Amino acid sequence: MQQPSEILPAANYVRIFDTTLRDGEQSPGATMNVEEKLAVARQLERLKVDVIEAGFAAASPGDFDSVRKVAGAVAEPLVLSLSRTREEDIDLALRAVEPAARPGIHIFIATSEIHLKYKLQMTREDVLEAVVRAITRARRHLDYIEFSCEDASRSAWDFLVTVCAEAVRAGARVVNLPDTTGHALPEEYGRMFSHMRARVEGAERVVWSAHCHNDLGCAVANSLAAIANGARQVECTINGIGERAGNTSLEEVVMALKTRADLTRVECGINTRQIYSASRLLAQIIGQPVPANKPVVGDNAFAHEAGIHQDGVLKHRLTYEIMKPEDIGVPSNRLVLGKHSGRHAFVNRLTELGIDPQAIDVERAFADFKALCDKKKAVYDDDLLALVNEEARRMPESYALVEATATSSMLGQPSARVTLRVDGEDRTVEVAGEGVVDACYRAILQAAGVAPTLERYTVKSITGGTDALGEVSCLVSERGMTVSGQGAHSDVVIASALALVNALNRLKLRERAPARRIAGGP
Ligand code: MN
Repeated sequence: MQQPSEILPAANYVRIFDTTLRDGEQSPGATMNVEEKLAVARQLERLKVDVIEAGFAAASPGDFDSVRKVAGAVAEPLVLSLSRTREEDIDLALRAVEPAARPGIHIFIATSEIHLKYKLQMTREDVLEAVVRAITRARRHLDYIEFSCEDASRSAWDFLVTVCAEAVRAGARVVNLPDTTGHALPEEYGRMFSHMRARVEGAERVVWSAHCHNDLGCAVANSLAAIANGARQVECTINGIGERAGNTSLEEVVMALKTRADLTRVECGINTRQIYSASRLLAQIIGQPVPANKPVVGDNAFAHEAGIHQDGVLKHRLTYEIMKPEDIGVPSNRLVLGKHSGRHAFVNRLTELGIDPQAIDVERAFADFKALCDKKKAVYDDDLLALVNEEARRMPESYALVEATATSSMLGQPSARVTLRVDGEDRTVEVAGEGVVDACYRAILQAAGVAPTLERYTVKSITGGTDALGEVSCLVSERGMTVSGQGAHSDVVIASALALVNALNRLKLRERAPARRIAGGP
């Protein structure tokens, strides 16, 4: 159980609450399986986030299981499950976080008139009663309760004051005022925090929390405005993933706090050197590449193209650089390993890159690394990350790529011959297509006997040079389910084939998993 000093941290300490596994995972194509969630959770612990929202236990048996496994997998951060105010939700959330060293639950209900009238069909009195009942029930089992007024930024302030006061009285430790719809602007969002802190009875006994969405591009600015007005927790996600336009991006808000500590006068506990690995790990897992111009973690975030800028940076880097790439753990992309590197050096480097050797099949990864050294002169950090992620993607498989041969020509029609193992049986298909990748994809789908829609297909060269590893991400959907697939190989056609096969396996797993009954939240 937490000591009171942990519940009310130092006045200038801002807690980082990560909801990549809950709000983030709700964004299209970002669904993760249990192993992937565990990999993200372990990285969040290395980042030293204060709180991990692991999921919404009542959403489905799969979500319950994921929350429970994450709760058992990390030691330092608080692990929370989201919960509505209904009893069944609370009991499931309580059971899901049981294995956590530091468990907590996050109860929410909407407070805006539009949500009360059209979604909940509840009166203000009904809402107040539900809040008190839920928090009281949860507090009998657990000390750490966060309460959220969903759609707070569009709620009437007089009603918000009443709800928050009741939540504090019932025993909530944290009160969150989300901008669920991404509608607020910084000045008004900040003002809401000062108003609540001034008017809510017992306001000084709780931590006030901000949770913002980026629909108007203001999520980070709104979070900073909340902090300036007394919020001491921000809810955010890696790469800013989340419902619609996403949530507050963890890396952006953290670097804003660190870089402008002169102005914000607050601190947080994040180990910024793990930011880059966290960003790339998540991008690879969900198959959503980080945009090149994304602040802090994009490929161009530290690139100086203009001559005058380059000249300035060479003379004194602070002329145009406000942050140092090494502070967020951007790999220097130097040659780290080669043909003659041993298994020990390989494992060491993986550990330095934030990969837990116990979480992967090291022997297979090392064999893949040796094979890569034969094909490629220089093996960089990013190559290693891609290779290990390729290894981690090998899950219980319905489909496996046995062999693929593709022929491309300017004169004749491109074609591909693919052998796919489908539930243990090898099927070979040869077809022509618009290009080699198209032919390959037609052959794979024909062999698998499925016809999902290819929503997106992207190829990225991991490091420079024509011998670089190609990394392919694709997004496929079928009957309302969208999944992503990734593949990495020194041959882009094979990488493309691996990505599609990976996506088909995920689609199969999703079909077998019990459907999520509910999803949503503040
Ligand atoms: Mn949200």
